Amino acid sequence: MKIVGIDIGGTMIKYGLLSIDGKILESGEMKTEAEKGVEVLFDKISYIVEKYLHEDILGIAVSGTGQIDGSIGKVVGGNPIIPGWIGTNLVERLEKKYNLPAVLENDVNCAALGEKWLGAGRGKDSFVCLTIGTGIGGGIVLNGDILRGDTCVAGEFGHIQVEKNGEKCLCGKRGCYERYASATALVRMAKERTGKDLNGKEIFDREKANETLFVEIVKDWVDYFTDGLSTLIYIFNPPLVVIGGGVTKQGDYLLDKINKSLEEKLGVNFRKNLTIKFAELGNNAGILGAEYLLLKKIGKLN
Ligand SMILES: [Zn+2]
Repeated sequence: MKIVGIDIGGTMIKYGLLSIDGKILESGEMKTEAEKGVEVLFDKISYIVEKYLHEDILGIAVSGTGQIDGSIGKVVGGNPIIPGWIGTNLVERLEKKYNLPAVLENDVNCAALGEKWLGAGRGKDSFVCLTIGTGIGGGIVLNGDILRGDTCVAGEFGHIQVEKNGEKCLCGKRGCYERYASATALVRMAKERTGKDLNGKEIFDREKANETLFVEIVKDWVDYFTDGLSTLIYIFNPPLVVIGGGVTKQGDYLLDKINKSLEEKLGVNFRKNLTIKFAELGNNAGILGAEYLLLKKIGKLN
């Protein structure tokens, strides 16, 4: 018994054949070609499913970009990068076409569930997950499930305001958390203060070499990051925060800075049992989280 896992991003679709205990038996990727619209996307998804139909397939698990009602597998909003995607009930279409159970959930929520099942969140029923990339995404795991919110958009941590009259954000507001603490924000801050176009790794390399400007840039960026993070911790009082995204490649070096900065911003009971961990599943978290949801849906997991 196997599962087809598919992760639909704005640029690439990653997919794989998965064992029931979350091992990736085979994997591949193809371009999303988002601009060609939802029907082309559906053809691509069908191609992937049909590639594996000769196996003993239990179901289809999909992690996708956008605002998604994961309880029914319908896209309810988000950035309209794939024409026709918003409003699509992918689960209904897949289940009808293949007569197999399917799930669709937002990619950040899937990543959180993947980490809960097989990664940094193992053994924890409730925790908060943040992904630092172009923006800051969030997922809230509550009692082993995703807290979706009334209209399925809970956990958009990137749009918490951290500067009253700050940088303009794509959401229309000013001073959003992701304008100051995402990987993109780090790159922008370096460009503004040094005139140089550097990626995250290069910025950290210069900071580690003790270049004064870069030491300040990283210090300020971490400070913004923990400003927002401490707000989240005050709301949820979680035992665990899992942080994902490319910058976590900095490992304990960055984790130590986060912990130090956070310590000054939290009351004693908020720090008492708190652990901050970096995500463990990397790019596979989305597919594995979707599989976790599918296995729950068909009663193979508690
Ligand atoms: Zn915003």
